[in-house]
Amino acid sequence: MEGEAETDCQARPRRDTHKRLEEIIKMIQIKEDEPLAPYTTFKIGGPAKYFCAVKDVDDLKEALAFAKGKGLPVFVLGGGSNVLISDKGFDGLVIKMELCGARILLEDDKEVILKVAAGEKWDGIVEMAVKNGWWGIENLSHIPGSCGAVVVQNVGAYGQEVRQTVKEVEVFDILDNTVKIMSNEDCGFGYRRSVFNGIEKGRYVILSVRFRFIKDGKPNLDYRDLKERFNGRNPSLRGIRQAVTEIRDKKYPFPQEAKNGNAGSFFKNVVLDAETYGCVEDLVKKNFGEGILSELRQRVFKEAESIKIPAAFLLDICGLKDVQVGGAKINRNQPLVIINATGKATSKDVLDLIKKVRQTVCEKTGLKLAHEPELVGFSPGEIKEVEN
Ligand SMILES: Cc1cc2nc3c(=O)[nH]c(=O)nc-3n(C[C@H](O)[C@H](O)[C@H](O)COP(=O)(O)OP(=O)(O)OC[C@H]3O[C@@H](n4cnc5c(N)ncnc54)[C@H](O)[C@@H]3O)c2cc1C
Repeated sequence: MEGEAETDCQARPRRDTHKRLEEIIKMIQIKEDEPLAPYTTFKIGGPAKYFCAVKDVDDLKEALAFAKGKGLPVFVLGGGSNVLISDKGFDGLVIKMELCGARILLEDDKEVILKVAAGEKWDGIVEMAVKNGWWGIENLSHIPGSCGAVVVQNVGAYGQEVRQTVKEVEVFDILDNTVKIMSNEDCGFGYRRSVFNGIEKGRYVILSVRFRFIKDGKPNLDYRDLKERFNGRNPSLRGIRQAVTEIRDKKYPFPQEAKNGNAGSFFKNVVLDAETYGCVEDLVKKNFGEGILSELRQRVFKEAESIKIPAAFLLDICGLKDVQVGGAKINRNQPLVIINATGKATSKDVLDLIKKVRQTVCEKTGLKLAHEPELVGFSPGEIKEVEN
């Protein structure tokens, strides 16, 4: 009897946990072995061991409790436009953010504070801002993905970065299961960087973002493409959005319209101090000659204490346009973009292409390119090979 009682006592918590996990599976409809490629703009990658979509913070708590109960790693997915998923898939729980809604928190004659849920489509919010005469994100038109993810890598394009309009970010802190508000400073923004993809990676799930837009903004036409396009004229918000969309359409195959899957720019621009940049100039002169060196000098962006070299220029001078490995290919119009040229590219094709690009650029310029999309489901060894 004693023995039986002991067995029963030990078994009950396990049975209760099992029952609770079964309840969660039904409640938030957790799927098993869900193919991930269709949830990404690259259309590459294997299945998630478990997958669910969450529409509010209660769903999110259940999903996290499920992962904890099963001892699984979690990956938070937005629109899947900045990820490369491994052919093996992800051996854990993928939580797709589908929290929706946008609400004005404050409006006066100078500014608007807009709260936007993480799952809202980014370009829809840009359209809303432009339509209402709110300045601040017009140059970030036509970028795919969700509003939660824009803060993760501090999305930037054509001289604007999202950090310039982010007032606060509402997050769920996985460490202590609480909802918190983080200020702009707390987010630790940098070039394609924040605490969310840096030192606090994996700790916070972004629930919503509060943006501050201004009503008497001025066009930001610092970027060459836009400057040339407007040639001294003063465009409206609508004019800027239109121009950015048209310029981008020639370079970036936008997911909805694209024949070929892609994840936008695959490589980050290179940011250097003046001394290191001097060494790069020497190598460029030696390997490509005076003509390319003077072009490089025209193409770099000088910032306060650094010099930014466009990675697209480096790929171009290294003759990497159209280079293909398996189904993965460097895009001709914008070489920063790797496309799924055959529709059947594997993540291995992409990794092999990245290695080839990095090796060529490093041999000819001395620079090591860093990738922009997050690599999901790869082994530490595979990641090291494209990050060393
Ligand atoms: C055609 C094309 C053009 C692009 N152009 C640009 C560009 O000009 N500038 C630019 O900066 N980027 C660009 N991108 C990259 C991409 O669109 C952005 O980085 C976008 O913000 C990613 O959003 P997403 O919802 O698709 O994120 P996902 O790809 O789903 O996720 C990206 C990262 O964010 C994390 N994440 C997503 N949602 C949350 C959340 N709610 N909480 C916590 N973490 C989260 C994920 O875990 C992952 O680490 C482009 C991509 C494409 C395909």
